[in-house]
Amino acid sequence: MAVAREFMPRTKFGERMSRHTSWHVGGPAEVFFSPRDRADLAAFLKTVPPETRVQFIGLGSNLLVRDGGLRGVVIETSGALERVERLSETTVYCEAGVACARIARQCIKWNLGPAEFLAGIPGTLGGALAMNAGAFGGETWAHVLHVETIDLRGEEHTRGRDEYEVGYRRVRAPVEGEAFVAAKLRFEHQPRASAAEMRALLERRKATQPIGEWSCGSVFTNPPGDHAARLIEASGLKGASVGGAAVSDKHANFIINHGTATASDIERLIEKVQAEVERLQGVRLVPEVRIVGVEASDAGPGDEP
Ligand SMILES: Cc1cc2nc3c(=O)[nH]c(=O)nc-3n(C[C@H](O)[C@H](O)[C@H](O)COP(=O)(O)OP(=O)(O)OC[C@H]3O[C@@H](n4cnc5c(N)ncnc54)[C@H](O)[C@@H]3O)c2cc1C
Repeated sequence: MAVAREFMPRTKFGERMSRHTSWHVGGPAEVFFSPRDRADLAAFLKTVPPETRVQFIGLGSNLLVRDGGLRGVVIETSGALERVERLSETTVYCEAGVACARIARQCIKWNLGPAEFLAGIPGTLGGALAMNAGAFGGETWAHVLHVETIDLRGEEHTRGRDEYEVGYRRVRAPVEGEAFVAAKLRFEHQPRASAAEMRALLERRKATQPIGEWSCGSVFTNPPGDHAARLIEASGLKGASVGGAAVSDKHANFIINHGTATASDIERLIEKVQAEVERLQGVRLVPEVRIVGVEASDAGPGDEP
C-alpha cells in the first residue's frame, strides 16, 4: 500500500510484529502506522484505500500473529490515544491507548472503584473494550457509559453501551470495522479504594500465574460451569510442548514461549490442547486469544518469513 508523504515519519514497512506482542512472535506487518494523535489517525484513515485490511492493536497481549505476518495496515493506539480525565465525581474519560494499569492507578488516586481488576490486565483500554477483559469478578463493560469509535473512512461516532452485545470475553459491535478511540467510564466513589488492595490482587495473581514469562494470559475461555485450566490439567497436558512453546506448569491455561517458539509452534500447541481435551473430556475449548495474519508459507513474494 502506498503511504502519503506526510505520514511516512510515523510509518514502518515490514515491521516485525514479534516486537509488539507479549508472546514475542509474529511476522512482518506490511504497513505499521503509529499515529501522533486522534486527528492524525483520522487523517491517515482517510487515505487508506477501502479494500485494505486494517488491524488495530493495543499492547498485543491477546494477539497471536502468524509467522507470515499481516497484510495491509496495522495501527497501534498506545502512545497516541493517551488522555485520561475525570469528568465528574464518578465518571472518567479515557482514550483507547491508555494502559489498563494506569486507569487502575488513577482511579485509586481519585478514590474511585472498583477498578483494581484493571491493574492485572497488561493491555490498553481499546483491547479491554474489544475483549470485555476482566479479572477478579470485574469486567470492562460493566463500567462503560458510552464509547467513541472511528470507522475506516476516518469518521468518528459516539455509541451508547446498549448498542453493543456484551458477554464473557465477547463484544459484538452494531457496525463492523469501527475501532475504539475512547470511552466514558463510570465507577463508584470508594473512599477506601486502596493501593494495598490492588497490590494484594497482583500478588495473588503472581502466586498462581506465570507472570513475567512470554504469554498471552489465558489462551482459552472458560466453558460454562468449568475452567479451561482444570480441563487441560486433567488431560495431562501441563508441560506439553510443540517446538519452543509449552503449556505452563504453573497455570495450565497459559502457553509460554520459552524464547524460541514461532507463532506456528503456539498455534499447533493450541490445536493439540483442543484436540486432547475434546478427546478426553468431551469439551471443545474456544480460544480467547485472537489469531491473525498469514502462515509463513502463505506470505507473498518479497515478504520476510
Ligand atoms: C500475563 C497476562 C495476563 C492477562 N490477564 C488477563 C486477565 O486477567 N483478564 C483478561 O481479560 N485478559 C487478560 N489478559 C489478556 C489481555 O491482556 C487482554 O485481553 C487485553 O484486554 C488485551 O489488550 P491489548 O491492548 O493488549 O489488545 P491487543 O492484544 O493488542 O488486541 C486484542 C484484540 O483487541 C483489538 N483491539 C485492540 N485495540 C483496539 C481498539 N482501539 N479498537 C478496536 N479493537 C481493538 C485487536 O484488534 C485484537 O482483536 C492477560 C494477558 C497477559 C499477557
